[in-house]
Amino acid sequence: MKIIPICPESFASNTYALISSGHALIVDPSVSVDAIKKATEKENAIIDGIILTHGHFDHVLSMDELRAAENVKVYIHKNDSELLTDGRKNAFYEFFRRERAFGAADVLLSNEDTIRLGEETVKVIHTPGHTEGSVCYLADGILVTGDTLFAGTIGRCDLYGGNDEKIRNSLSVLRTLPTDLMIYPGHGSSCTLGYALDTAAYYL
Ligand SMILES: [Zn+2]
Ligand SMILES: [Zn+2]
Repeated sequence: MKIIPICPESFASNTYALISSGHALIVDPSVSVDAIKKATEKENAIIDGIILTHGHFDHVLSMDELRAAENVKVYIHKNDSELLTDGRKNAFYEFFRRERAFGAADVLLSNEDTIRLGEETVKVIHTPGHTEGSVCYLADGILVTGDTLFAGTIGRCDLYGGNDEKIRNSLSVLRTLPTDLMIYPGHGSSCTLGYALDTAAYYL
């Protein structure tokens, strides 16, 4: 398994391509479809699907366009599906004082579901707190953390569905994983899980 950040300098959230044996899953498509296709073509990978860490607008800005262009399915945790189609719950209104809704997801995920990618699998870890349906995706040596855990802080819990108590519990779940896993957060740069959890402790 390999992970490629696409346009890491983008104002929107981090978009990643997870790649295995010529297949790709796009995480949180929020940069141009062109940039996403260039990155996967360079890897000779075909796009199998779109997996979302949660339903906030800044993680799905190019989701509908990419889904139509590639004819693929969108996966999200079942508790966040309502965010996509609600122009307020997805936090767009919070930032821009107008509503913007997106298309509904195709596949609803639960904790410990697995998604096939090439010869490998990606495991869903439900980590509510930033939103009710936030997840991390665990693959070989890689942990995609969305807005649950960053290199230096944790996700805010004051938006729709946010819950401090739940993010604490979710971080304890992540504490059971190997500390040398690399985390790939929804914003900012990567680091080891151990480093991220050590710095996150200041906020708990
Ligand atoms: Zn975000
Ligand atoms: Zn978010």
